[in-house]
Amino acid sequence: MTIATYRVGDFDIAIISDGTFLQDAGAVMGVIPRVMWGPVIGRERVDADNRMELGLNCMVVRRGDDVLIADTGIGDKHTGAVRERMFPGNSGHLMKQLAELGLTPSDVTAVANTHLHADHCGWNTVREGESLAPAFPRARYFIAAGEYEAACHPNERTKGTYFPENFQPLEATGQLELVDGEREIMPGVTFLPTPGHTADHASLVLASNGETAIYTGDLVHHAVQIERPAWIPAFDVLPLVTLETKKRLIERASRERALLICTHTDYPGVGRLSETDGRRTFTPV
Ligand SMILES: [Zn+2]
Repeated sequence: MTIATYRVGDFDIAIISDGTFLQDAGAVMGVIPRVMWGPVIGRERVDADNRMELGLNCMVVRRGDDVLIADTGIGDKHTGAVRERMFPGNSGHLMKQLAELGLTPSDVTAVANTHLHADHCGWNTVREGESLAPAFPRARYFIAAGEYEAACHPNERTKGTYFPENFQPLEATGQLELVDGEREIMPGVTFLPTPGHTADHASLVLASNGETAIYTGDLVHHAVQIERPAWIPAFDVLPLVTLETKKRLIERASRERALLICTHTDYPGVGRLSETDGRRTFTPV
């Protein structure tokens, strides 16, 4: 697979993929009935167990010596039956993709997690013998303070996706950078709260020379969910907050002609919004 690259202002962006995994299509589509989403998704995209394939698009941003990775996929710490049960599909490719870009883990200076669900921070850490270590030894890891709190104290509904091995080792090495609210984490790169999927979910906004790119994280799972804001996954803990957040982001993306980068949309998950006759369209770029 050829790695998709983009230029936004003076940022070099590459979309590297940790692969794909299968997710219950009904859960992805939330309260929208199958008779409505079926024709949009395409029946051939849904398997006999009602699962659909989701991408694991992660963004690499480079400018000078700064190298940032947004989200780190599922990782390779789970194997065998556990992996097959939790993450059926074909994932674990992020590091190979990074190498294809000519980068080593030590070249990465910053990691930003939109949130700490297991499909977004798997490569934050790696196994070294019996212990765990940050996968990127020189990087600072930016995580919303509220998200970190939620991940460290999960409830009955959230504990199935918050795995301490993906984030706790960062505290021991002093690489964890908890972010409160909106913050510029690298010149031109803003960590922007976009609550809804989780209460402290964040997106990343790149702004340079009048151009904008937005890495959405799980603000959407499928491109149709940008075109139709009321289509919201069942995973979201605050769906009505998602709706308000999404409308704000859609307005901004349209105004700034932003490049949108969506984590779970088919690779590379990059596109722009346009509107004709009141109908919004996400066009892949
Ligand atoms: Zn996700």
